[in-house]
Amino acid sequence: MKHIGLFGGTFNPIHLGHIQVIQEVKEGFGLDKIFIIPSALPPHKEPDGLVDAADRIEMIRLSFSNHPDFAVSDVELKRSGPSYTIDTVRHFKSILPRDAELFLIMGLDAFLEIDTWKSYKDLFLLISFIVMSRSSAGQGATVFGRKPFEDYLKSRISEGYRLSASQSSYVHEEKKPVFVFDVTPVDISSTKIRKLIKTGRPIKSLVPEIVEAFIKSKGLYL
Ligand code: ATP
Repeated sequence: MKHIGLFGGTFNPIHLGHIQVIQEVKEGFGLDKIFIIPSALPPHKEPDGLVDAADRIEMIRLSFSNHPDFAVSDVELKRSGPSYTIDTVRHFKSILPRDAELFLIMGLDAFLEIDTWKSYKDLFLLISFIVMSRSSAGQGATVFGRKPFEDYLKSRISEGYRLSASQSSYVHEEKKPVFVFDVTPVDISSTKIRKLIKTGRPIKSLVPEIVEAFIKSKGLYL
């Protein structure tokens, strides 16, 4: 059985924070493949400074050109209108083998807003979650605040979730498990990169060199 990860975002642009954490998730969960899925119009974000989908896709491609286990998917860019995760998950379920195990990968910040997503309750029937928490060095694995997370999961998603014996996930009788996974905190965001470029400052060590060169050559985010 194949284990497949889905990692969505704006990727405006993709950066070393994204790349570092999904590599950690891939290894931690033994995933065979991860699809990186840039969104067209993010329903939760102001599309301010959003560069062309083709450029965002190209930057992802360049970042993973030597890594066949990571693939970029243009499924959300081909659909018209806002990108809803529920539609994307249904799409992958329809094209992947029936016995493939799918995992939706996202940051804790994004997860804690999931009750604002379209048909969010259905998502928990369809796909397991890997929620990446970014605890600061030295603070230990539980610093993300298991209690607020658990309260959120139980009050907004379903009372039936409980911590598994291994404590690595929350399990439910009818719904898919929700894993919480500590990743190395990397203090990079696309917003920070866009700001640096706008103010003429270097973005070295925040994006792969090849992406930096691409941004420069196309004059993106100026
Ligand atoms: P922006 O600054 O434009 O809001 P972003 O850097 O947060 O963008 P997104 O494309 O929104 O990037 O992120 C996609 C996913 O990657 C989200 O689930 C987000 O939580 C996660 N993510 C973004 N940056 C990091 C990082 N430095 N470390 C771990 N996860 C990250």
